Amino acid sequence: MDIFKKKRLKMVQTQLKARDITDARVLKAMESIPRHLFVDEGLAEQAYNDNPLPIDARQTISQPYIVALMTQALEIKNTDKVLEIGTGSGYQTAILASLAFQVFSIERIATLAAKARKILDQLKFYNVAIRVGDGSYGWKEEAPFDAIITTAAVPEIPQHLVEQLAAGGRLVAPVGNRDIQTLYKVKRDLKHPDKLNKEDLGGCRFVSLIGNSGWKE
Ligand code: SAM
Repeated sequence: MDIFKKKRLKMVQTQLKARDITDARVLKAMESIPRHLFVDEGLAEQAYNDNPLPIDARQTISQPYIVALMTQALEIKNTDKVLEIGTGSGYQTAILASLAFQVFSIERIATLAAKARKILDQLKFYNVAIRVGDGSYGWKEEAPFDAIITTAAVPEIPQHLVEQLAAGGRLVAPVGNRDIQTLYKVKRDLKHPDKLNKEDLGGCRFVSLIGNSGWKE
């Protein structure tokens, strides 16, 4: 078994299963997707550590546990259409793409989007569309989505994203100020789509969303 596969299995055992990640599909995705390919070569050895890591343009690849927690909360089925705001390295995108039917991901920094596209193509994730722009507005032409994830912090849940959530759909976003946030899950009721249920998933710390629903650079 190669060294990275060993590190990956250990990560799943000690960081995910040992905490509260129980969804077998999420655990399998995290076991199989080569996270070290989404960071610079010099950081590959650290890719399975229990912390976020820097990527280009002063952004970050999220801690494995946070990726797993958010993905589990999204309750993704293999028929689902998913919207992601903040492609970053493309690692979270790959996890989503391995579980869903289609993933639409928006990244504001063109160089990050291009790098993510390249690695996702290498790994044959052909069910991913990436767009460069401000994710605050969502992806209206492709709405509604069964699941929506924001991987950058927002002061409040963007209204455009809530509007693009299907009946029965789940949205997960870090909401707070630029230093500290709370991870929220919002679920649109299947039978009464006007009803939204909001759940607190705990504290977190994300880079800021820069744009209409977030902050100025
Ligand atoms: N999920 C990513 C991964 O696995 O590497 C990590 C994403 S990183 C924490 C947040 C990303 O959101 C950054 O790449 C940042 O450029 C992007 N971002 C910030 N504001 C944005 C906006 N308005 N629209 C789209 N992307 C945005």
